[in-house]
Amino acid sequence: MAELTFVGAAGTVTGSKHLLSLDGRRAFIDCGLFQGTRDIEALNHEPLPVTPEDLDAIALTHGHLDHVGYLPKIVRDGFRGPIYCTPATADVAAIVMEDAAGLQCHLQDRGFHRERCHGLAPFFTDADVKQALSQIKTVPVETDFSFCGATARYHGVGHIIGAAYLGVAFDGRKLIFSGDVGRYNTALLNDPTPLEGADTVVCEATYGDRQHPPDSPAMFEKALLDGIERGGPILIPSFAVERSQDILFSIGSLQRSNARIASVPVHLDSPMAIKVDAVFAHYGDAHKPLPGGADAPFGCRNLTVHVSSEESKAINEIRGPAIVIAASGMATGGRILHHLHRNLTNPRATVIFPGYLVHGTLGRIIADGVTPVRIFGDDLEVRATILHLSGFSAHAGQDELLRWLGTLQSKPASVYLVHAERTAANVFAEVLKGRLGFNAAVAQRGVTVQV
Ligand SMILES: [Zn+2]
Repeated sequence: MAELTFVGAAGTVTGSKHLLSLDGRRAFIDCGLFQGTRDIEALNHEPLPVTPEDLDAIALTHGHLDHVGYLPKIVRDGFRGPIYCTPATADVAAIVMEDAAGLQCHLQDRGFHRERCHGLAPFFTDADVKQALSQIKTVPVETDFSFCGATARYHGVGHIIGAAYLGVAFDGRKLIFSGDVGRYNTALLNDPTPLEGADTVVCEATYGDRQHPPDSPAMFEKALLDGIERGGPILIPSFAVERSQDILFSIGSLQRSNARIASVPVHLDSPMAIKVDAVFAHYGDAHKPLPGGADAPFGCRNLTVHVSSEESKAINEIRGPAIVIAASGMATGGRILHHLHRNLTNPRATVIFPGYLVHGTLGRIIADGVTPVRIFGDDLEVRATILHLSGFSAHAGQDELLRWLGTLQSKPASVYLVHAERTAANVFAEVLKGRLGFNAAVAQRGVTVQV
């Protein structure tokens, strides 16, 4: 008998965790952290429907924090089984978890723990991260592996380096877990792999209610030129994984066609992004050929990389327009907080949010036009120009999700939508029923279904 219980990312965008029970053996597909509002982050402290010691295995779809960030906690609580993922995902997950552990300590040391983490005690330590990493077993894409008595296989799905959707074949039936679905025709990654048949599909629907703008390079070019005109820094809060590389690539393309943009210095202030660059270098078969060379990573020239915190602080001394890329993308932590703290009150400054912003995060609050905002204990009047461009999203838009699900060779018995705010999931369920004739439902947290 096979059952599926929705534990996380059911009615929320974060906290991805799906419990699969196969004849009494139990596994999580993804093991992510809830992020966002106080209520959503409090879900990280709710008991799981299975005790960690009784869990047999975990399979990860990719290395983002909302898919792997609960691993150190679950091993801390006693899980000792294998954690399966693709080789590149193992490297990304290590970078992401080590950063998350470091960030918790850093914020607590500075006395800002209550402010950013809603007063919750730190979740895990470096030692827990190490333990989680020691349980990882990598499996290349398109290779069968045994998973709780079932046969499982990863297939590339775009999104970020290493990301894969998971097919699980059990007792003559097939389940698919999409993880996060990437976009088509991107510069760095291959398109999502077409689907075969499936009886049950658990699919993300982050952008299930909307399309991405058709001409994002032109919008980004205008945002940069307007920012240069204002004369102050142009801050781009960016996820270190993938987004930073996409942005360097886009700036590189614009540098070749626009002398004004080419003349402005670019600063990558993210030691984590630099580690991710190394993952790209190491897994050449997990992405398209990279543009540029050592003097122009991802095709971007006029670039200075800031690793140490002294180098990061040197950015404060820069006068005139400069592009500063720093993590995190939703301004939930990382060096971007320091740059926002210094520049939000500056009318000459520009802030460009390049991707999805979860409800309740500082990024979303700023992008929604709230002022003042509180950073490091200071209430800051927002005078900088704030822009939110969704064109850099690593998630498929509605058409791209339909295109991918449309490759299914037969109609699945059920499609459950996860990883979306309720409105997006509800809209996409209707679209799937109307356009593809699928029996689509929005996954409900805590609900178990037969599969
Ligand atoms: Zn993701």
